[in-house]
Amino acid sequence: MSKGTLFIVSAPSGAGKTSLLKRLREEMDRLVISVSHTTRPIRPGEVDGRDYHFVSRQVFERMIAEGAFLEYARVFDHYYGTARQPVLDELERGYDVILEIDWQGARQIREKLPECRSIFILPPSREVLEQRLRRRGQDSEETIARRMRDAKAEIAHYDEYDFLVVNDDFDQALSALKSIIVADRLRLSRQREALADLLRQLLA
Ligand code: 5GP
Repeated sequence: MSKGTLFIVSAPSGAGKTSLLKRLREEMDRLVISVSHTTRPIRPGEVDGRDYHFVSRQVFERMIAEGAFLEYARVFDHYYGTARQPVLDELERGYDVILEIDWQGARQIREKLPECRSIFILPPSREVLEQRLRRRGQDSEETIARRMRDAKAEIAHYDEYDFLVVNDDFDQALSALKSIIVADRLRLSRQREALADLLRQLLA
């Protein structure tokens, strides 16, 4: 069994997942957020290698054929996937790894690594979700309606997850995410090795 824990975090677009995870990584040690590969075009402000590894469809399909992905899925007309080796390497050196992936990827990971933990982030209401999807720019009503439908389709899978976190107040949601990770780190199976010297001394 690997030393770190693999966490899956899914959410509909507009739930605030990316900002929460960015802060979580800044505030916790021994935690990495996996950088996915995608064939979708890079957006303004995104950095290749930091937000995603932006690759062509040909490269992505070659990686599929080589078995390089731990999971991959088509989401909104583009491929998204998690490269296997970097994740396994981080887990092996005792780091916890977060995969920011959709429900389809989550299912594949649970099949392959059943010891993973999965977290679903919910917006506090339909109204707030819609406001957050609108705030992203000058989108048409049709675009907003499509995003709401996509969000609902993702939320429909909430009951496949171990934990549900509502992102109403940012700091409370952040603290809930931290609690999940801290509790996992305190499990007997992880502590037994970390506290081996202490336990030996106490039981001498
Ligand atoms: P966006 O294009 O807005 O960055 O992400 C769109 C969706 O793709 C989000 O729901 C996100 O969770 C999902 N996604 C991002 N990376 C991966 C990945 O590596 N695998 C899977 N299955 N989904 C991903």
